[in-house]
Amino acid sequence: MLKIANHPVYAHPLPEGHRFPMEKYDLVPRQLLYEGTCTAENFFKPEAASEAAILAVHEAEYVENLKNLNLDRKTIMAIGLPLSEELINREKILVGGTIQAAEYALEHGIAMNVAGGTHHAFTNRGEGFCLFNDQAIAARHLHRERGIGQILIVDLDVHQGDGTAQIFKDDPSVFTFSMHGKNNFPFQKEESDLDIPLPDSTTDKEYLDILKQQLPMLIEQVRPDFIFYQCGVDILSSDKLGKLNCTLKGCKERDRFVLQSCRQHGIPVECSMGGGYSTEIKTIVEAHANTFRLAQEIYF
Ligand SMILES: [Zn+2]
Repeated sequence: MLKIANHPVYAHPLPEGHRFPMEKYDLVPRQLLYEGTCTAENFFKPEAASEAAILAVHEAEYVENLKNLNLDRKTIMAIGLPLSEELINREKILVGGTIQAAEYALEHGIAMNVAGGTHHAFTNRGEGFCLFNDQAIAARHLHRERGIGQILIVDLDVHQGDGTAQIFKDDPSVFTFSMHGKNNFPFQKEESDLDIPLPDSTTDKEYLDILKQQLPMLIEQVRPDFIFYQCGVDILSSDKLGKLNCTLKGCKERDRFVLQSCRQHGIPVECSMGGGYSTEIKTIVEAHANTFRLAQEIYF
């Protein structure tokens, strides 16, 4: 069965007019239930990640400062969300969701988190709506608690997975792959194990040709025992923050190719939803819902 982490705190209240579309965390699961892609049984309510799990990735001083709401102004600005105890609790639950989904993926081949993909969180700071790096923390959890060897992070969000790249820069047991808009945030990129920067206005065909060439080679080269997939849908032409020119259909083909590749090679995969900032919320919901629909179609 497809297990999906979801929690009421995911749809965290933000000030009116804030550019982060928080309501998607409420709408995506509702859409999946409404259309019958999922039943209530598919969803599980994660528990907050332990401090030990978080400290396996993030520096103690940063975690402590977050806990005390004691970050400097510059870091708070860079995070871009109003900091509160509730928000920090939400982020811990979201990380717990990715850890538990990774565990379910070992059992069922795939599992997903309705939130997460917080790839701009570095060891010592947060950025771009990200406080803790969920997939990095879950990767370390799999190493330490489940004896998983090689991990591959496939980050196809339009923004580079800069935090993830920094976290695993000197760790060969996690291979970081990021395919992203060359001219998108973050403007100062980190070095992933493999970066593919795409020019503005990249189309479906150009995008998929590159992915279909690179991913099989990577799987062959890295031979991962586990894959984390950051499946942000901000590659759409309708995205306010992204600069690529992909369609809903192209985005769905992207997800299909990644999930089919994992399935064919028998590599368990955890999917965290990542970004999506299209003007119309229904486009964001549709694009994310496609990833869940495909998971059901391909695996179950
Ligand atoms: Zn993004």
